Amino acid sequence: MTEKPMIPLFDLNFGVEEKEAVLRVLHNKWLTMGAETEAFEKEFASYVGIKHAIATANCTTALHLANIAIGLEKGDEVICPSLTFVATLNSILYTGATPVFADISSINDWTISPEDITEKITSRTKAIMVMHYGGFSCDMDSIRKIAESHNLKIIEDAAHAPGSSYRDKLLGSIGDISCFSFFSNKNISTGEGGMLCTNNDAYASEARLMRSHGMTSGTLDRYKGHAFTYDVVLNGYNYRMDEIHAAIGRVQLRKLDTCNDLRRCSAKYYESKLSKLHQDITIPFQDYKYKPNYHIFPILLKEGINRKIFMKYLFEQGIQTSIHYQPVHLFSYYHQKYGTQQLPLTEEVARREVTLPIYPNIMERDIDRVVEHIKTFLAGI
Ligand SMILES: *Cc1c(COP(=O)(O)O)cnc(C)c1O
Repeated sequence: MTEKPMIPLFDLNFGVEEKEAVLRVLHNKWLTMGAETEAFEKEFASYVGIKHAIATANCTTALHLANIAIGLEKGDEVICPSLTFVATLNSILYTGATPVFADISSINDWTISPEDITEKITSRTKAIMVMHYGGFSCDMDSIRKIAESHNLKIIEDAAHAPGSSYRDKLLGSIGDISCFSFFSNKNISTGEGGMLCTNNDAYASEARLMRSHGMTSGTLDRYKGHAFTYDVVLNGYNYRMDEIHAAIGRVQLRKLDTCNDLRRCSAKYYESKLSKLHQDITIPFQDYKYKPNYHIFPILLKEGINRKIFMKYLFEQGIQTSIHYQPVHLFSYYHQKYGTQQLPLTEEVARREVTLPIYPNIMERDIDRVVEHIKTFLAGI
């Protein structure tokens, strides 16, 4: 192992403000679904440009609530990508609905293919679940047209996408419902945490009810004397966020634009350095028209380069890399349940993709080190 410190795949950007936010909650002695959560929801909704934001325990639970709100049930089909984190798919299965995999658009655009979505529509299709890979938008104009002409709902898995724009909007404000993640390695980190966003009043009120056992009032309402009893009107869940996570989220939200700018600078720097290695390494989403947030920095290795050895070599030089993603349809559980799929582009990208370290505070000298070691590796094969 190298003497130099490890360059991690991702690093938190916490400062004194996050600590103060946590202490503020402890001092105020109200731990769940209180003023911090309400403020976080309001601030997040206003940031995204959407009517309702509903804080949840994590993004997986937000996706589940979204699927409930649009009325998914057994027998329904949802068209979704396979090049995503398994949570996207799991949330569909929780409702009894069937995921139907669509391929990615191209070897350059790794988001769900509108053409393949159209191919996969049947009389049972109820929704399209899109995922903005790495903070790069799916082709939302085409997907909206498809959804309108077939009367389908659109759910955006926006876990990668806080602060990414699409035309004059932010991602997460385009579909019927969108879900964000505040897991440690996301652009906003609270540990665990998520947010469901929608402009639809009915979806919002159902999601709010289902988030907390279908109860018509919360503990804060009762504390404040706004209510003394509650009714239970639905069979809901406990998918609530707590005040500590919400307080951290509010600080993180305020830093988001600055941190995304830093990521964009780092991505540009990577691109300038890696462009010289274009024989062996390509960078996806070339000629992308909008403003991504560089949630991750993915590259594609030339066919024939052994990815495992590449990743192991970098690890031995103190550089952590990752794969986004092992496609969901190839995992044992999904493969046994849904069988072999025709997703040639997804499988090819999934075989050759490597994710390099990126985070707001990564230094140019760290990126230099990553690229130097990649060069040495490539020279040696
Ligand atoms: C992280 C992630 C999720 C799940 O988020 P949690 O907050 O951990 O539940 C869902 N979808 C995608 C694409 C993700 O990257």
